[in-house]
Amino acid sequence: ITEKIAALPPDGEYFSLEFFPPKTAMGFSNLRVRLQRMERALRPLFVNVTWGAGGSTSQKSLELAELCQREIGLTTCLHLTCTNMSQALIDQALEDARALGIRNILALRGDPPRAEYRDADEPDQASSEEFTWAIDLVKYIRKKYGSYFCIGVAAYPEGHGDGSHPEGQSFEHDLPYLVEKVQAGADFIMTQLFFDIEAYEKFETTLRNHPSGAFKTIPILPGLMPIQSYAMIKRTAKLSHAKIPEETMARLNAVKGDDEKVKMVGVDIVSELIGQIREIKSRTPGPKGFHFYTLNLEKSISFILERTKLIPDVPEDEEAVVDETVVAAAQ
Ligand code: FAD
Repeated sequence: ITEKIAALPPDGEYFSLEFFPPKTAMGFSNLRVRLQRMERALRPLFVNVTWGAGGSTSQKSLELAELCQREIGLTTCLHLTCTNMSQALIDQALEDARALGIRNILALRGDPPRAEYRDADEPDQASSEEFTWAIDLVKYIRKKYGSYFCIGVAAYPEGHGDGSHPEGQSFEHDLPYLVEKVQAGADFIMTQLFFDIEAYEKFETTLRNHPSGAFKTIPILPGLMPIQSYAMIKRTAKLSHAKIPEETMARLNAVKGDDEKVKMVGVDIVSELIGQIREIKSRTPGPKGFHFYTLNLEKSISFILERTKLIPDVPEDEEAVVDETVVAAAQ
């Protein structure tokens, strides 16, 4: 990924699309067709494949990663969590990824299973000595594989949590740990989704000016989620602790009874957010990236990418095919 970013013009833009592995064979074959269409029509620089905490989707995540990387030829970043995972499972995942030709890992801690879901006498594997935090996985991959894998890490413009839970931390609390993750060998940063541009501005400015110099040039990809429905965005914002600014909420409230209108207002909202992020990013030299949580859906993201002109130009001989596909995807 970092090599592909470095090959872009200094003021170039790029984006990544995130997908999760479907549960059923039918879901998988639908996603295959959609991915093929999106690859041709939207031309992401890379795609991400999520990993179920504790390795719950390991097989399916690897299957989807194989589809993306090998069958469709998309540069793929496999997410990998380390808490509540045995070292054997981590080793297996990294070896499988390597065998598939995958060169990019998003190294995450993952969420420990909640105490209330564990049997009383079941040990809390989340606090295993080897892998407690994401940085342990970053260090492990670097030690075992040198520079073979390009490693990304997660960050939270609004802090990791809402302050009401022991896990709830402010961005200021997270910051020293983020510095350590980067110094341990992370190559790029992807953020939690957000709608609050002021929080993102503070986040990126703080990182870029950090006295450690750790974030001077590292690619920082802001995480954006197309708004698929009113209920979904309220739920997602709550789970991710992303604040929805009053003005944004008022625009969604005005159309909340009409799903299609919510989606289209959502396209406006995310497209405007991209415009504001572009302004913030224009202060730092180098290509500018964006990450989209697609929820495996295609329509809103296609509109947003078209509206914001993020889809890269295509060589002339491919143009006819792409135009048709974009139209089909957006319908
Ligand atoms: P860490 O970097 O370990 O940080 C977690 C918290 O612990 C932070 O509050 C940090 O400040 C604190 N901390 C870190 N180190 C220390 C230390 N040494 N001492 C004390 N506190 C410390 N989850 C999945 O299960 N699967 C996925 O595919 C997935 N993809 C994601 C993609 C992105 C872009 C993002 C932003 C998140 C994703 N997550 C995923 C969620 C993520 O696993 C959780 O948010 C998890 O709770 C934290 O992971 P982390 O890698 O940020 O952890």
